[in-house]
Amino acid sequence: MKYEILGKSNIKVSRVGMGVLPIGPNQRALPLDEGASIIRYALDRGISFLDTAQYYKTYPYIREALKGSCYEPVISSKSLCVDYSSMEAAIDEARKSLNRDVIDIFLLHELRCGQFEERQGAWDCLQDAKAKGIIRACGISTHDLLVTSEMADVPECDVVFPLINYAGLGVRKGNGPGTADEMIESISRCHASGKGVFSMKAFGGGNLTANYQKALKYVLEKQEIDSVMIGFGEIKDIDDLFDYIDGRMSPDYNPDVSQKKMCIEQSDCEGCGTCLKICESEAIFYNENGLAQIDEGKCLTCGYCAAACPVRAIIMY
Ligand code: SF4
Ligand code: SF4
Repeated sequence: MKYEILGKSNIKVSRVGMGVLPIGPNQRALPLDEGASIIRYALDRGISFLDTAQYYKTYPYIREALKGSCYEPVISSKSLCVDYSSMEAAIDEARKSLNRDVIDIFLLHELRCGQFEERQGAWDCLQDAKAKGIIRACGISTHDLLVTSEMADVPECDVVFPLINYAGLGVRKGNGPGTADEMIESISRCHASGKGVFSMKAFGGGNLTANYQKALKYVLEKQEIDSVMIGFGEIKDIDDLFDYIDGRMSPDYNPDVSQKKMCIEQSDCEGCGTCLKICESEAIFYNENGLAQIDEGKCLTCGYCAAACPVRAIIMY
């Protein structure tokens, strides 16, 4: 495993990080010890960068994985909150739940186009937390290439966590879709201005997993991306990754995705209803929050809804 410094932040991370979301209650809902053992396995193999979020409810897995170990991975968390006091509470929750005085990286989670001003309170809180030394770096996660580009000109922003994959699945450009090339341009701007860049959704939320090696090659070849965050839900996912980066993978190997399930990321869904119209199995319904949700009993995992969702909130895991 290679290691890189995230921009000017002085934070050293593994070239591939572990997204912890898949083991948690929003996806596989693994028992605590099983989920923790997957994190521990990733750490044993040299992964030193973990991505979590207030919304993922995965702090207990990380805490359990680190209990009694000598590992001190870089932990990045984030919150969807808007105002100062909610962000203060989110940082406090992370510090307590992870049993850490300092959280390495804290982000505005899923910053959408035109939303930066609206979330200024939360952003101010991140600046204050950094000044107090309870976070080391702050930044944003986003699917939007305009937001990514905007961050290149924000001096207080240390790191960006944008979405990128070879097919451009889920890349947003304001109210419409953007392309992978356009997102790479925005990422390059951030990289050139000294921001640390770590990327998400190399497999387009599972929709590109059938082209596993092509998807990994694309992101790992980009020098402007310091680290690539990959969600691991089982040990085999980690073994596959190392087989690929160590050159042991047969060129025609792709993981079996036949047992995968579909799920709608509630933090990403905008409730537009497109997927409800597309699904002929009537497997999608609006939940009590007005957001789309999948009835696993009816879903045929055809993937049509995922292809139609404008914000790529529908993932396969
Ligand atoms: S298409 Fe996407 S954003 Fe629209 S309701 Fe479905 S999951 Fe949500
Ligand atoms: S994967 Fe197919 S069956 Fe399942 S919810 Fe989406 S469109 Fe419906």
